[in-house]
Amino acid sequence: MRDDAVGEILVQPDELARRVRELGAQISEDYAGRDLLLICVLKGAMFFLADLMRRIDVPCEVDFMAVASYGSATDSSGVVRILKDLDAAIEGREVLIVEDIVDSGLTLHYLLRNLGARNPASMEVCALLTKPERRKVELEPRYVGFEIPNRFVIGYGLDHAERYRNLPFVAALNPAALTADKGD
Ligand code: 5GP
Repeated sequence: MRDDAVGEILVQPDELARRVRELGAQISEDYAGRDLLLICVLKGAMFFLADLMRRIDVPCEVDFMAVASYGSATDSSGVVRILKDLDAAIEGREVLIVEDIVDSGLTLHYLLRNLGARNPASMEVCALLTKPERRKVELEPRYVGFEIPNRFVIGYGLDHAERYRNLPFVAALNPAALTADKGD
């Protein structure tokens, strides 16, 4: 795809595949003998979830949640609206939240509080990307794909104004293109 909005490639397709394989192996080892429930946070984590789940070899189920975080184009406010809630109860379940990216951490902080109140047996987070420099709340996902610098990124599920999710790599968005609302 030739597009001026697509800037420097930060994570190549083969690096994504290798890291997802490693995470799948690690999760399979950690959850051996347990029934895992993956919670995919839409829409950004959809490709990550699909690839990761195929690399997990313990029995697992998946449920989906969609949230929107109010804020400007690049900053979430921590005020989160649930657009789609889970289909089923998670009480007593071994929950692994699959996220695209942890930026300020405010969205994840809200999710952990909201889902934690539903009494899962355990709850951990697997995030494809994290921008540690941007963190506003103390919070470290148990599993992380890649730490990236403070850039707005697109591709492999991540959007800008709903576009570029289909890029097979993670790239920085050229700042000139950064005008509209941040995606979910
Ligand atoms: P936080 O609440 O941690 O600041 O933001 C979390 C959400 O903001 C992510 O789940 C994602 O939807 C969005 N977000 C944060 N940084 C980026 C980015 O660099 N690119 C894209 N496409 N979305 C981002």
